[in-house]
Amino acid sequence: MSLTDKEYMRYSRHIMVDEIGEAGQLAFKNAHVLIVGMGGLGCPASQYLATAGIGQLTLIDHDDIEITNLQRQILYSDFDLGEAKVEVAQQQLESLNPHCQINTLKESIFDVDLTTILAGVDVVLDCTDSAKTRQYINACSVKAKVKLVSAAAIRGSGQLTSFDFSLAKSPCYHCLHPDLDEQQLNCATMGVMGPLLGVMGSMQAIETLRLLLGKQDNIGRLLLFDAFTMQFQQFSLPKKDNCPVCG
Ligand SMILES: [Zn+2]
Repeated sequence: MSLTDKEYMRYSRHIMVDEIGEAGQLAFKNAHVLIVGMGGLGCPASQYLATAGIGQLTLIDHDDIEITNLQRQILYSDFDLGEAKVEVAQQQLESLNPHCQINTLKESIFDVDLTTILAGVDVVLDCTDSAKTRQYINACSVKAKVKLVSAAAIRGSGQLTSFDFSLAKSPCYHCLHPDLDEQQLNCATMGVMGPLLGVMGSMQAIETLRLLLGKQDNIGRLLLFDAFTMQFQQFSLPKKDNCPVCG
């Protein structure tokens, strides 16, 4: 598939960037990206991926919109209270870019065949908010040999890591967080600064575009951002030989 004249105009500010160019924009158009969780991370990530020209986005979330979401989940407004997140998100994203095909699943990931769904996508974004869900998405992504961009944010702390399970050298989320009984630290119990989700979700979108451009330099690197000090830190994550998920 090539770019139409309209797409060429629409994405001209991408195409004029040497690192992207027409070939990169075409890679975005031919990509299928899955976003699990349409909360504080999934909203900005999906907005930037839709407007950037990703050809197909699939959104999974079983939640309806509540008033406590509106402080940070920027696709939703007071008019949408009680509506399904994926349905409101689909309408908003389609109006942002009619060239992007939006598929939705209003389901818990535990009720769908996630490994099969993952085998049909190029990149999956973990935008969820619980340790159990993250471990499950990681395990299914390892099986499906897909690229995973995982992010989290709590209070003022954000973290981001990319994995590519088609590469034997890639560590996995379990190598980094082996403790399955991790206590329930999430936004509902600990709180979070709203714009921090915008930073972390936007960085997930950037990482997705970078992976689609073939960049592998961030695989297995943990990036930490502290919103209260405005400091970034980076660590390289080794793959654990005895990891029960990817070892
Ligand atoms: Zn592992």
